[in-house]
Amino acid sequence: MRAVGRTRGIRTDWQVASTPAPDHENETALGADQLADASQAAPGDLAEIRDRQVKDEILEDQRHPTQRHPLAARGLPIGRVAGVEVRLDWSLLIIFALIMLALGWGLFPYWHPDWGVGPAVLTAFGAAVLFLVSVLLHELSHAVVGRRLGVDIRRITLFVFGGMAHMESEPASWRSELAMAIAGPVTSLVLGIAFLWVASLLTGPIQIDPQRPTGAMSRLGPLATLLLWLGPINILLGLFNLVPGFPLDGGRVLRAVLWGITGDLTRATRWASGAGQLVAWALIGTGFAMILGVEVPLFGTGLVGGLWLALIGWFLNNAAILSYRRQLVVKSLGDLHVRRIMSTDYQTAAPDMSVRELVETRLLRTSQRAYPVLDRDGLRGLICLEDVRRLERDKLGEVRVGEVMTPVAQLSTVTPEELASRALDLLVQRGVNQLPVISGGRLVGMVSREDIFRWLALHEGARSDAQVGG
Ligand SMILES: [Zn+2]
Repeated sequence: MRAVGRTRGIRTDWQVASTPAPDHENETALGADQLADASQAAPGDLAEIRDRQVKDEILEDQRHPTQRHPLAARGLPIGRVAGVEVRLDWSLLIIFALIMLALGWGLFPYWHPDWGVGPAVLTAFGAAVLFLVSVLLHELSHAVVGRRLGVDIRRITLFVFGGMAHMESEPASWRSELAMAIAGPVTSLVLGIAFLWVASLLTGPIQIDPQRPTGAMSRLGPLATLLLWLGPINILLGLFNLVPGFPLDGGRVLRAVLWGITGDLTRATRWASGAGQLVAWALIGTGFAMILGVEVPLFGTGLVGGLWLALIGWFLNNAAILSYRRQLVVKSLGDLHVRRIMSTDYQTAAPDMSVRELVETRLLRTSQRAYPVLDRDGLRGLICLEDVRRLERDKLGEVRVGEVMTPVAQLSTVTPEELASRALDLLVQRGVNQLPVISGGRLVGMVSREDIFRWLALHEGARSDAQVGG
């Protein structure tokens, strides 16, 4: 069992002189546990919400407790295409390096024994860049079709397992989900065929001699070589994404079809997520078979390929489970607005206040972990426990709150009219614990993971009471 974020923070790293006593920690932990117990007591069709891991998911994920590291959390912005912001995640360097290694020092020297290191590596570099462009076009096609159909997509992040289009809203109907999901694989298949077609224009028909399979390849120039790798890779990418395991594109297609047939999005998501987990376990099993030396058609054999496949399976399994849980939470939050759950009872700080004063008058006296920083002009930023923990103890008197807070320009905010499910998505995406609620340019409240979880727990309790009473 993972520790709840709040408890973990206080227990491990809080080093200021008058540290809260251990009892205090237990109280905090108990508070969170009671919250969980309240939800565990409740039956009903939302019973799956009470799963402790859902609570962990809402309360736990706080790798970036402040909003200080937008690059680390959200990737490197490289520009806008068709109104969509494109970002590169750092993990992409891994896939880039792997492709360079596999092609520049593996496949291309094998195809072209007469090439030196230079041409092989340069061609591999071109192939790796064009591969990333292909993945980007796949994601852009989802985004463009989605935007045509009214789904708000502002950002695409490319990362180690491909790309991710960040949907700010969900498709409103099964038809728009179907169109949006199928666009990506169709783009990859079309790209793959187009690359092969251009290659055939360059080379003419290739005669492969069974005795010397690489003989024909060795006569090709760098461009044709690169296209003959990119074509099949894009076709494989399109086919892999069509595998009916949610949240892969094919799983979304399956969910859209089930949604159309049953009219029940939650049930469709449960089945599609189950299919996703089946596919994931098949990948993990295949991966381990390859590690043990079994020769698998299309995937080959060996430790590296096997590990990679098992890792993709593990990732897909998690994604399938999380997507279904998220659907349950979104369903139970319904059309709840931020206004109803935000807290208005919180303390604030001033930019020119010393951090020592903040610690002594606020942090040590209340359980509030994050403080909006206000001056006469309104909200200037947010300072939280993590910001203070980074400082040396004997410097606390000299440092001002304004110097260590996260400035307002780097904060994500919501309005009171926005949906609570949207606030939760933002909290999870940004890996933060709370968001300022802004209306008419002024701070009107704070909404946190705890606020959302408390509402879920109480809402479920109220429902079960009503069932007992009726
Ligand atoms: Zn896709």
